[in-house]
Amino acid sequence: MAAVTGATGVFGGAFDPPHVGHVELARRGIEHFRLDRLLVLVVAHPGHKGVATPPEIRLRLAELAFGRLEGAEVALDTHARTVDSLLALGLDDPIFLIGADEFASFPTWTAPERVLELARLGVATRPGVDTARLEAVRATLARPERVEFFAIEPLPVSSSDIRARLGRGLSVDGLLPPAVGAEIARHGLYAHVDRAGGGGMLGDDRTEGTTQT
Ligand code: ATP
Repeated sequence: MAAVTGATGVFGGAFDPPHVGHVELARRGIEHFRLDRLLVLVVAHPGHKGVATPPEIRLRLAELAFGRLEGAEVALDTHARTVDSLLALGLDDPIFLIGADEFASFPTWTAPERVLELARLGVATRPGVDTARLEAVRATLARPERVEFFAIEPLPVSSSDIRARLGRGLSVDGLLPPAVGAEIARHGLYAHVDRAGGGGMLGDDRTEGTTQT
């Protein structure tokens, strides 16, 4: 499928905290789809999982993480569901960027077919995700042509792993954009999350999906 020129991209996440994998996905997404703009949406209250830090802190960290990417604009998103975010944004056929792990659960999101009417999906391949499985998921959709895979440099890092490492006082060198790492260190963020992988959550309303559904 040919890449779209001059489109707007949307990249949503809890970003708790934003890490080098997120920035690589955003950078490659801008490049691959030749995006004029990328709206990075910090989901204030994800409908599916708890978060360890308040929205305002995650917004600040995301501004530090994505601020240097040309065309990137960071904002807080008060919608928990992607379909509601896209309806509120009212963009002209944007490209919604997600990681491959998220796409595997896309059919369980709220109104996935409506999401695909409102936006194309740009799915970044991520280590550990089976390509045949992704193709199988795409084949179940009414409009599979609205889903495009694109390769990114594999960076096997996750926010939950980073939270767990910070909670244990372990090094996170190389896992965070330097400005994000400095801000976390300055305020001692994530120092008190539990050792089970990022607890100490603000709410734990697990319903469906993983990031923003
Ligand atoms: P957690 O570990 O808490 O579940 P996460 O690292 O997956 O968090 P999110 O904020 O939930 O981060 O993810 C936002 C988006 O970034 C999702 O679409 C996810 O698939 C993608 N993503 C997360 N980590 C990576 C990575 N290492 N490489 C590429 N994409 C990633």
